[in-house]
Amino acid sequence: MQPTPFPARGYTRESIFNAMQAMRARDVQWHAGRVFSLVFDAGADAREIAQHAYDLFFAENGLNPTAFPSLRQFETDVVAMVASLLGSDGSIVGNMTSGGTESILMAVQAARDYCRIFRSEISVPEIILPVTAHPAFDKAAHYFNLKVVKTPVTAEYKADVNAVRDALTPNTILIVGSAPQYAHGVVDPIPELAHIAREKNILLHVDACVGGMMLPFVRQLGYTIPDFDFRVPGVTSLSVDLHKYGYAAKGASVILYRTRELRRAMMYATTEWPGGIYASPTMLGTRPGGAIAAAWAVLHYLGADGYLHIADVVMKTVEVLRAGVAQIGDVRILGQPDMSVLALASDTLDIYQVGDELTARGWHLDRQQFPPSLHLTVHYGHAARVELFLRDLQDAVRAAKKASAQKFANRAIIAVAQNAARILPAPWLSRVTQRAASRLAGGATGGGRSAAMYGMMGALPNRGDLRELVLDLVEGFTTPPSDK
Ligand SMILES: *Cc1c(COP(=O)(O)O)cnc(C)c1O
Repeated sequence: MQPTPFPARGYTRESIFNAMQAMRARDVQWHAGRVFSLVFDAGADAREIAQHAYDLFFAENGLNPTAFPSLRQFETDVVAMVASLLGSDGSIVGNMTSGGTESILMAVQAARDYCRIFRSEISVPEIILPVTAHPAFDKAAHYFNLKVVKTPVTAEYKADVNAVRDALTPNTILIVGSAPQYAHGVVDPIPELAHIAREKNILLHVDACVGGMMLPFVRQLGYTIPDFDFRVPGVTSLSVDLHKYGYAAKGASVILYRTRELRRAMMYATTEWPGGIYASPTMLGTRPGGAIAAAWAVLHYLGADGYLHIADVVMKTVEVLRAGVAQIGDVRILGQPDMSVLALASDTLDIYQVGDELTARGWHLDRQQFPPSLHLTVHYGHAARVELFLRDLQDAVRAAKKASAQKFANRAIIAVAQNAARILPAPWLSRVTQRAASRLAGGATGGGRSAAMYGMMGALPNRGDLRELVLDLVEGFTTPPSDK
């Protein structure tokens, strides 16, 4: 690949779109229901509504609500509608953001600045994160200079309440619980965490990014869902993504607060800029009108009955999936997931090997660790594919059972990497592992073989080396080869 020069002259419409279509050839096939993360699809109708609304407000900017009262109305409505699903008595306030990460960044920043006012004796505030909490909280602590205290989860992958209690210090400002957490799809014991938060007069954020638009409907269908929203006293903020189970366009999430004082701590304003008085509720400046408009449109298009129907289809798909997994054997679902987010593991096989076999059959499942598992977020678009998936899963399990020569070859390379790790200085190690990783990845079928790479990464003695290796990869994604 050559570094891309800036185009000297404009291209034709046709050549641009031909090139773009060609480039997406190797993308994951989400529209065929073959991806179990990243994309949520409620079918062609809902997609068309979101696209049309996005298009209508394509150029509009949510930065200045006085210029676009339409967007201001959409945002106000969306926040109120979502809050009413999540236990608001009308007093819950909030804003739209660009996604779960921004919602979480805002919740953590608001907590920090709120406590600067009301608990000014604290110099380094601490937040308690169960290990399953989303990395966006670590990112927030990294950005906003907070100390993270990690707590373990139980054998059922739920936040361990006693461990959270033990982790409290006089500097604790915020506890985080998830509904559900992303990796295994289980809801943390929010009432118990809220009890601690109230007793100690600290804040509690519920991360309902993936569950907030699903759990209320799943409960309505008759499934048992533990309490997790503003009906639980002590929950002070909550994040819920609309671009997940809300089936809105990407770039839409909601951050909710129990009190106006807490939300006020999120907001930013300066009156000293030559460009005028500048204020914004959340992190972004310019805010895409399309994402706000599309969320409003889809919520109105589907309505409570539409979301209920979709949740029903999704939960029935999950039931078929779980029954199928039980029948295949050798693989199992970890813990007791509360909705439609699952982790597939194995006690007898290398689950990453199963993942590679599924990749070879055209499925995309993210790899997870501690313990090794494959991630499954089931959405509406999977309903028609579940039988096909189960058949391929059975084949994948069979294939993984056959010990292959490839496996031995990979083990040898892992052993080399492990030995190298003991003697090489860190920058060298990172290069060696990268090379080993690409050899492994290019191995059996010319790509997609991640099992051995994960095995190797797990074998690295120092997680810091692994972090550098990962950052090398991230840099490489957007660096022309000649500059690397
Ligand atoms: C998706 C997700 C996030 C982060 O949301 P983004 O929209 O990817 O930024 C946070 N928490 C949970 C539980 C999630 O599932």
